[in-house]
Amino acid sequence: MRYTQLGSTGLKVSVLGFGGIPIQRVDPDQAVEILAACRQHGINFIDTARMYTDSEEKIGRFLGGEKREDWCIATKSVARDYRGMEEEIQLSLRKLGCEYIDLYQLHNVGTEADMQKIMEEDGALAAAEKAQRDGYVRHIGITGHKPEILEPAVSSGKFSTIQLPFSPLEQQTKSLLEQAVNTENMGTIAMKPLAGGALGPAGAALAYILEQDFIDVVIPGMDCPDQVATNCAAVSGQISQQDKDKLQQVVEQLGNRFCRRCEYCKPCPHGLNIPVLFLMEGYYSRYNLKEWAWERYHAMDKKAADCVECGICETRCPYDLPIREMLAEVHDVLGGEKPD
Ligand code: SF4
Ligand code: SF4
Repeated sequence: MRYTQLGSTGLKVSVLGFGGIPIQRVDPDQAVEILAACRQHGINFIDTARMYTDSEEKIGRFLGGEKREDWCIATKSVARDYRGMEEEIQLSLRKLGCEYIDLYQLHNVGTEADMQKIMEEDGALAAAEKAQRDGYVRHIGITGHKPEILEPAVSSGKFSTIQLPFSPLEQQTKSLLEQAVNTENMGTIAMKPLAGGALGPAGAALAYILEQDFIDVVIPGMDCPDQVATNCAAVSGQISQQDKDKLQQVVEQLGNRFCRRCEYCKPCPHGLNIPVLFLMEGYYSRYNLKEWAWERYHAMDKKAADCVECGICETRCPYDLPIREMLAEVHDVLGGEKPD
């Protein structure tokens, strides 16, 4: 495993980190096995979130048997005000069973109003800074999907790290990541490296991302020890030309027909949550999560078939996606009977 300094934090982290979303889907013993595999392969960076249901708790159970200082633990909260953030940090500490958290991030800051709120005197950032002074939090970071919204956070000099989507398919965050590294010496964390499972071979995609000098850590979700081993091998060794070619082929095939979850298309006047509908289709078709995705899709109030094809969303999508056509495909895939 290779290690790197996470920007100005001084934290020495493995270039491959553990993304905490998929362990929501496994039982607590399996979660411990996956994290033990991370340790075995040299991963020391774990990133999770308050909103990933029991992920913090499962990680906390694992950390109970570990030397705390061997790990760099990052988590995050969508709280926007002082009080909410104060409570969330204490909750994270309890769930993780830690006396301190290495990196606490303001999660998914997605609008100008969000940004304004967190930066106010009684905003979430002030609570994170207080927790830092009190020794509960070592460093403060920010995460989101939209570079133009996060730019003021980078320029403010108040955050030590930034986490954004970046992959061979998603390059719109590149210039902000470069700015974060070059002008603010921030640590950079690439999320959604496999574009929701659309990209492969996974090893080639991870290696491509880590070749970029503006990325410190990449955090794919891993839900079994074998996946941990495969990803670790991929970032430690050479990627074959054949895998590089395959990756290029996938990137070309997906082309523009791929939802980046930027949410610019929202709101749909008929109540459809467009990016989540595409996400469920991705989970069904590309992950081995057919039943899980089908159940979530069928629990949604508005499904793809509720689209009245007004086309408003398509005028807002910066990637010019044929959303109506793609929603019809979502309905074809998920609208049928529950899979066995
Ligand atoms: S085309 Fe469909 S999804 Fe898009 S805004 Fe209209 S009803 Fe909503
Ligand atoms: S459909 Fe387009 S606008 Fe909507 S989330 Fe996806 S990429 Fe963004």
